[in-house]
Amino acid sequence: MLPEGGELLRRVIPSRLVSELSDLPGEIRFDVSLAPRTTIGVGGKGACLIVPRTVDALVEAIRLCRQCGVRYILLGAGSNLLFSDHGYPGVVIATEGLSGSVIEGRV
Ligand SMILES: Cc1cc2nc3c(=O)[nH]c(=O)nc-3n(C[C@H](O)[C@H](O)[C@H](O)COP(=O)(O)OP(=O)(O)OC[C@H]3O[C@@H](n4cnc5c(N)ncnc54)[C@H](O)[C@@H]3O)c2cc1C
Repeated sequence: MLPEGGELLRRVIPSRLVSELSDLPGEIRFDVSLAPRTTIGVGGKGACLIVPRTVDALVEAIRLCRQCGVRYILLGAGSNLLFSDHGYPGVVIATEGLSGSVIEGRV
């Protein structure tokens, strides 16, 4: 089982990654309840949630997570998606700040 609260964040997200993600245009939050972000409405907290404001920021966030070996997931409308009650030990990258953008190709 994953640790709760700030401990969850400290254990899974290196401070360097937190700092670099915080510099990207958009919003960053920690220990965020994920249930309201899914259509089913169940699940625990995400260690870190970012809402990039630009496509470049989204791409950079993915690159940074990969570089640090931190798990990440892209979250759109959260249809039929089930997060564990124990939380998501990584970075949730929500695309809600990019409505109207169409993203093609691979990162
Ligand atoms: C029948 C069915 C049952 C399922 N059951 C489960 C289950 O029990 N548990 C589980 O965990 N998962 C389940 N899944 C999988 C789950 O639905 C998907 O993993 C989930 O939709 C992912 O959520 P999302 O937010 O990433 O995507 P979505 O909720 O589909 O949202 C994607 C959003 O991104 C937008 N978008 C898509 N492509 C682009 C693009 N190129 N550029 C810009 N915007 C784009 C879409 O318009 C949409 O707004 C099921 C899927 C199906 C079809």
